[in-house]
Amino acid sequence: MASPAWRLPSNCGAPGIAADIAEIDKDWRVYGAGITITGPTLRALDRLGLLDAVMTQGFCYDVTRICDAAGHVVMASRVSGRPLGPRIPNGGGILRPVLHRILSEATRASGTAVRLGVSVASIQHAADDVAVGFTDGSSGAYDLVVGADGIHSRVRGLLFPGASPPAFTGQGCWRAVLPRPAALDCAHVYVGGPVKAGIVPVSRDEMYLFLLQNVPGNPRMPEQDWPELLAAQLDGFGGMLGAIRGGLDASARINYRPLEKLLLPRPWHQGRVVLIGDAAHATTPHLASGAGLAVEDALVLAESLLSGDALADALQRFAARRYERCRMVVDNSVRLGELEMGRAPAQEQAELQRASMMALAGPI
Ligand SMILES: Cc1cc2nc3c(=O)[nH]c(=O)nc-3n(C[C@H](O)[C@H](O)[C@H](O)COP(=O)(O)OP(=O)(O)OC[C@H]3O[C@@H](n4cnc5c(N)ncnc54)[C@H](O)[C@@H]3O)c2cc1C
Repeated sequence: MASPAWRLPSNCGAPGIAADIAEIDKDWRVYGAGITITGPTLRALDRLGLLDAVMTQGFCYDVTRICDAAGHVVMASRVSGRPLGPRIPNGGGILRPVLHRILSEATRASGTAVRLGVSVASIQHAADDVAVGFTDGSSGAYDLVVGADGIHSRVRGLLFPGASPPAFTGQGCWRAVLPRPAALDCAHVYVGGPVKAGIVPVSRDEMYLFLLQNVPGNPRMPEQDWPELLAAQLDGFGGMLGAIRGGLDASARINYRPLEKLLLPRPWHQGRVVLIGDAAHATTPHLASGAGLAVEDALVLAESLLSGDALADALQRFAARRYERCRMVVDNSVRLGELEMGRAPAQEQAELQRASMMALAGPI
């Protein structure tokens, strides 16, 4: 999902934007976990022409079931119909490598030049362009550089060296990929237990599990112990989630990650360099919206650039359109984590979740 360097044609009103991508990973990989895609994320992917591929290669649904720790369904999400349009399912799941393949194939098909194993070494601002030095010794002059290089963004470090680094939020996220039971036809979220967890179908054959553990001291979780450590967290859960406990071995592609957040104050640009996605705003997964925000950022940035306004105005307007929505996701996600850690009543958590999702259903 990265694209640190873009080259605009001098005529910004042209239908396409010529771009070079510099990606640090020489194999352009992504790790093997599942990812939840909300209705608004599916809407953004539809605007890229990628909804059909995601629906075919992932697993979409319209209802999310809320279960108690024993696995009894206590509530189904109260979304009626398809508020985002008849084509747009209310949610879905997909494996990250599958989503990455869909996005990277579309990127290459657009004619974008993709350079792998390369990063940005230096950025020098000039009046009419920006000079980028790359880590392989090459260099180039660009009309605009887009830092889309994730939560630990190097472009952010070059642009805003004094910016606060990502902050640990007190929770860690476990994920695992497992065979999908036929009965799992939509996301099931388990609330009211010692921790929040859920299972989401990601294809006809597979599902992924997520579990948010409270880890106040951010302890190290040695990788060889992951199956046992995750199994211990599943103690006390019943239903389809509890049944997973015995099946956690190396084939389950277990992944653990401490959660961090970051919200860069505006502006998100300096001269001809702008930040998007996690580089500007990284959220915890409580609203399953970080990747969706990154896709929306790219859409809104492209619209702003093609508006015909001067570049500085276009970049100002881009951040003005994006800031409040991204701030809401970061702040409400962190708050949901705090409510979980404090074992706040399920109703209070559900209300904040619902209000946030309703806000996200608004236009971007
Ligand atoms: C545990 C967890 C669960 C999550 N679950 C969900 C979910 O269910 N749904 C959801 O929508 N979001 C989820 N997210 C958030 C989501 O993963 C991110 O918001 C999203 O990946 C951000 O996309 P991005 O393109 O900005 O950054 P990234 O996906 O991090 O991509 C950055 C890219 O830049 C490359 N790169 C990095 N550094 C450099 C460099 N110096 N030079 C060149 N290239 C570089 C990387 O290799 C990578 O390809 C979750 C996050 C976490 C931590």
